[in-house]
Amino acid sequence: MNAAVVPVPLGASTAYAVRGERTVLVDTGFPGGEDRLLTRLRKAGVAPSSISLIVLTHCHPDHAGGAAGLKRRLGVPVAVHEAEAAWAESGTSELYRPLNLFGRLLDRTLDTGFPGFTPDVVLTGGADLAAHGAGADVLHTPGHTPGSITLLCRESGDAVVGDLLAGSMVRRDRPGPPFLAQDTAELWRSARRVLEAGPRRFLFGHGRPASAASVRRLLAACT
Ligand SMILES: [Zn+2]
Ligand SMILES: [Zn+2]
Repeated sequence: MNAAVVPVPLGASTAYAVRGERTVLVDTGFPGGEDRLLTRLRKAGVAPSSISLIVLTHCHPDHAGGAAGLKRRLGVPVAVHEAEAAWAESGTSELYRPLNLFGRLLDRTLDTGFPGFTPDVVLTGGADLAAHGAGADVLHTPGHTPGSITLLCRESGDAVVGDLLAGSMVRRDRPGPPFLAQDTAELWRSARRVLEAGPRRFLFGHGRPASAASVRRLLAACT
């Protein structure tokens, strides 16, 4: 089977299925959304039994919320970056600094907790997911949170960046900064490193996809 990245829309966020010989599920939505995620996966033609690994782009509740439940139900390992292993274990996270109005709203209203779990794979620097049946490399891309990672999918040329950047809710190729960030200088440095890896397309935890050229324009305007 050709490697492909299948979006799994979950309402408030988007998870992705990175397909090769097996499937790596990237992110898990809010707590309690596990049934919906599995239904959407099947609808997209991805058998949940093909999942070999769950990778979390970072441990905010809209990405890590379903990890504990899915790990139990599917019996698969969950990978997080070492900088957020303690968040996963305790089921807590930090939102850091709002970058816009929506971020300020989230900062006041979002419950930062989620069902905790013990990560089976703790990522340090980069990692190659070939052993899990998916042609993707992991890049540590902090800025939104300390343990944010990006998956670079070699065959499809997609970069699944989590909340490193956000897409427009309406239009393609209108990337912007995320709603919240730990360190904006670090965020732009990470975005530049993803670009240097040469992906064709950026896929976000929130919003519509963007071409590498549109992300390059954003970086030129913001840094
Ligand atoms: Zn986030
Ligand atoms: Zn998010």
